[in-house]
Amino acid sequence: MNYLAERINWINESQTIGMAKAGRELKAKGFDVINLSFGEPDFNTPDHIRKAAKQAIDDGYTFYTPVPGYPELREAIVDKFSRENNLDFSINQIVVSTGAKHSIMNVIMACVNPGEEVIIPTPYWVSYSEMVKLVGGVPVFVNAGVDTEFKISPEQLEAAITPKTKAFLFSSPCNPTGSVYTKEELAGLARVFERHPEVLVLSDEIYEYINFAGKHESIAQFEAIQDRVVVINGVSKGFAMTGWRIGYIAAPLEIAQACEKLQGQFTSGACSIAQRAALSALTSPRNSALEMRDAFLRRRDMVLELVKEIPGWICNVPQGAFYIFPDVSSYFGKSHEGKVIENATDLCMYILSKAYVSLVPGEAFGAPECIRISYAASDEVLKDAMNRIKTVLADLK
Ligand code: PMP
Ligand code: GLU
Repeated sequence: MNYLAERINWINESQTIGMAKAGRELKAKGFDVINLSFGEPDFNTPDHIRKAAKQAIDDGYTFYTPVPGYPELREAIVDKFSRENNLDFSINQIVVSTGAKHSIMNVIMACVNPGEEVIIPTPYWVSYSEMVKLVGGVPVFVNAGVDTEFKISPEQLEAAITPKTKAFLFSSPCNPTGSVYTKEELAGLARVFERHPEVLVLSDEIYEYINFAGKHESIAQFEAIQDRVVVINGVSKGFAMTGWRIGYIAAPLEIAQACEKLQGQFTSGACSIAQRAALSALTSPRNSALEMRDAFLRRRDMVLELVKEIPGWICNVPQGAFYIFPDVSSYFGKSHEGKVIENATDLCMYILSKAYVSLVPGEAFGAPECIRISYAASDEVLKDAMNRIKTVLADLK
């Protein structure tokens, strides 16, 4: 008997989660595994945020929450957009969800009909394509390689738009490449959208605070398209709060209301305690976020130096997030003990089995020539990992 619905076969397992699981399993067997596959800050959630959560329990924040989030949290989000991004939203345009992943899924479920196309610049975050497929939508990929810092041009975007295009979904700073679109580059994309008022723009800004390029720029700033941009953000990355599961959107009212309706039948309001913690995060000075950003920048530079010692890897200089995404295709076709490395997945499995370092193959992000290394780990761990990788790669002939 097959008890499963067809839709479960439309999607793949998340490889970021899959590789982290494979690493954990090896570790449980006693191997000394370094996990650089999972995209999460290695820092603890700052103290004042943890205190706010403890206080929330003591203050009785233990009941169901309003579906789109506590009003005081939504106010704080409105305020954040106004102060930091110069964007004006009303509280009714904000919906808080169980992580940004949930926020994105809500928007896709609320907006994309079966057969409609969603344009996704490649490399893309692993879940975008699968979320689109889950609702019967069609992901349309627009490729950008390391030569253009993994960023697409307005011409490429224009060429990808068809009468079936419903939305454009991207992240800047980008997971997995760390690329950051400049204001001018975003303006170029916005001019294309101006000519296509039927296309929604879904802008994933979860790495806003991990940006080495300077001020964060949102595509929502361009007035001509502002009424159809959905900004997705959350506290996971910038505030080291991955486990708390709080994400949010700022959306045109109709879309926000649709997400609220959906969420009301699906998950209800996000966790009460986590929302109070997120309130503390968003209403406090950004000191810890800035300190973490500085630490990531220092590690980026250290890892890039170490990459120089690995022959054949081509790497850009990421301007944000905490990943490097080298092109490793010069290793394809090489072998060790009779096993040929055909692709990035083979290379990651080889590195995991020989060096005990877990990474994510580029296939997961639509870029089969690359691998993703998260540098959200201590200096010692990163040095050890890169050294191990260099050693086992030298065995491939
Ligand atoms: N978007 C991107 C680009 C991400 O890397 C992540 C990481 N998980 C998410 C969304 C989801 O974040 P959250 O933990 O808030 O669900
Ligand atoms: N977003 C992180 C990553 O890309 C966490 C894992 C996930 O949510 O897929 O690794």
